[in-house]
Amino acid sequence: MARKQIVILGGGTGGTMTANRLRRRFDEDEAEIHVVDRDDWHVYQPGLLFVPFGLASVDEIVRPRQRQLRNGIVFHESEVDAVWIERDEVLLDNRIVLPYDVLVVATGSRLQPEETEGLTGPGWNERAFTFYTPPGAAALHAQLERFDGGKLVINLIDMPIKCPVAPLEFAFLADWYFRERGIRDRVELIYSTPLDGAFTKPVASEHLAGLLAEKHIELVTEFNAGEVDALLGEDAGQVPCRDRLRERTVERRRVDELGARPDAALSEMPVGEEGELERGNRTLDRHVDDVDDHPAAIET
Ligand SMILES: Cc1cc2nc3c(=O)[nH]c(=O)nc-3n(C[C@H](O)[C@H](O)[C@H](O)COP(=O)(O)OP(=O)(O)OC[C@H]3O[C@@H](n4cnc5c(N)ncnc54)[C@H](O)[C@@H]3O)c2cc1C
Repeated sequence: MARKQIVILGGGTGGTMTANRLRRRFDEDEAEIHVVDRDDWHVYQPGLLFVPFGLASVDEIVRPRQRQLRNGIVFHESEVDAVWIERDEVLLDNRIVLPYDVLVVATGSRLQPEETEGLTGPGWNERAFTFYTPPGAAALHAQLERFDGGKLVINLIDMPIKCPVAPLEFAFLADWYFRERGIRDRVELIYSTPLDGAFTKPVASEHLAGLLAEKHIELVTEFNAGEVDALLGEDAGQVPCRDRLRERTVERRRVDELGARPDAALSEMPVGEEGELERGNRTLDRHVDDVDDHPAAIET
């Protein structure tokens, strides 16, 4: 039997596990296995949750991809340039052509913070963060270390996201972290989500909402972020919010926006002049202090 050629695009969790299992299943004279990734750094993504709170460092959760692959797997560090389905070939950026008998596409998902207006503008990774990337998680860690009171808003921008429970885990970890530091009473934690509950599944949603309430983390549902303005200061702008949020004048404040297709990020929450969050025809009555009362609210 001729040796089969298996090409796997993407050396993340999916591609790595597939390659290793296939290597175990087929002897080297039965199949040649190639894995392609644009870089040689495998990020253990669940570990990103712990970086902002100093419970793990980026170094600990990033490893060379080749070290994760079994012997007998060929690793190519290159961008995939094209897949020629009709010829059963893959063209790599470095001009190498890989013919295949079986092609596995495991290229994962990409964060798209640029899809939310203003999110990657001024203040990105300084006041508005994502913990879904190593640089974002590390920057948030540095900022949280300086944070000694104010509002932290964890805002899930959109669905679907990788690991829908990660933003909630972040909220609970934040509660723990501020307690450990003895400043929990000076921190207002808000969890806002476009969903109509804390989570996607009804039973879990109810339990998680109860847990949030128990830990004094305010839950804001059906919140659809329209635009992010992470700058603090005088020049508060207009926020065109889609769906349930009307265009409101923004009182500057910090919002940690986690997860979502445009991925985890810190942004701002549109707040009414009287300190109310407007959601369609309903008003969430909540006390909103002047930002000056919270000098350390994520801004340095
Ligand atoms: C904070 C956080 C917590 C999580 N917690 C959990 C958890 O507790 N449990 C759980 O099961 N999951 C969890 N997840 C989700 C899990 O980590 C991901 O679903 C998983 O890592 C995705 O693996 P993947 O192989 O599909 O994609 P990725 O790991 O993203 O791999 C895709 C790879 O393809 C490469 N690639 C893409 N396009 C190209 C191209 N054109 N050329 C070359 N290379 C390319 C990329 O460089 C990348 O390395 C979590 C995720 C996050 C962010």
